[in-house]
Amino acid sequence: MKNESIHILNIPFVNQTKDEIVHDLYNQYLKEEKKAFIVTANPEIVMRARQDTDFLYTLSKADYIVPDGIGVVIASRLKKQPLIERVPGFELMEDLLSLSDEHRLRVYIVGAKPEVLDQAVSNVKRTYPNLLLVGYHHGYFDDHDDTIIQEIETQEPDLVLVALGCPRQEKWIKENMPRAHKGVFIGVGGSIDILAGHLKRAPVIWQKIHLEWFYRLLQQPSRWRRMVVLPQFIIQVLKSKG
Ligand code: UDP
Repeated sequence: MKNESIHILNIPFVNQTKDEIVHDLYNQYLKEEKKAFIVTANPEIVMRARQDTDFLYTLSKADYIVPDGIGVVIASRLKKQPLIERVPGFELMEDLLSLSDEHRLRVYIVGAKPEVLDQAVSNVKRTYPNLLLVGYHHGYFDDHDDTIIQEIETQEPDLVLVALGCPRQEKWIKENMPRAHKGVFIGVGGSIDILAGHLKRAPVIWQKIHLEWFYRLLQQPSRWRRMVVLPQFIIQVLKSKG
């Protein structure tokens, strides 16, 4: 991690606003054609890293771990080292797409179901007509299949959105990014489904009162199992030193 960060259960979260992150990504990575690995992390990811050493190692390769999840921000306040703001992964992705539109950057999308991806692709082309969408591939492929990274090597995208769910997307980026010549790689989870209009983001009022996660749970009740880690996360944070 290259920037000032705040550790939550040994995971270093970048302590910058979304706008600062986007600004730095443009100036330090995109303009310079350097590679960056961005993880958008919530309490579930922090807890997974405590049990899965391979995943913890994967996270150690990230250039930015952003606090996408109010639970992480609350944890930072409990530790009296408050993170400056929550950085919703969907908004970070939207800002990177706008930046790509503004500077006519090359974009590649990996992930989501084929029909969802097709819809997202047509929405991206309509909303960001100046970016160059140099390729895309749905997310239901064999991990040993290297067609996607071969295409990325050839097409040299500046921005690669990876929506394979956690931890697959982070592990895929860690494994494959070394073969790319340049590019900001970001794991975006369910954001392609939102881009496609397949899932909806919570109304702004829900976001303001920090209940976006609850809105998502109502849309996808099967996610409840993942949320049982939350109380455990807070207990571990309170028990942790520093
Ligand atoms: N996904 C995928 N391949 C997979 C698993 C998931 O492309 O092998 C896609 C899924 O279709 C969805 C996105 O990854 O578009 C996020 O999935 P999920 O909501 O499970 O991820 P999380 O919330 O854990 O990031």
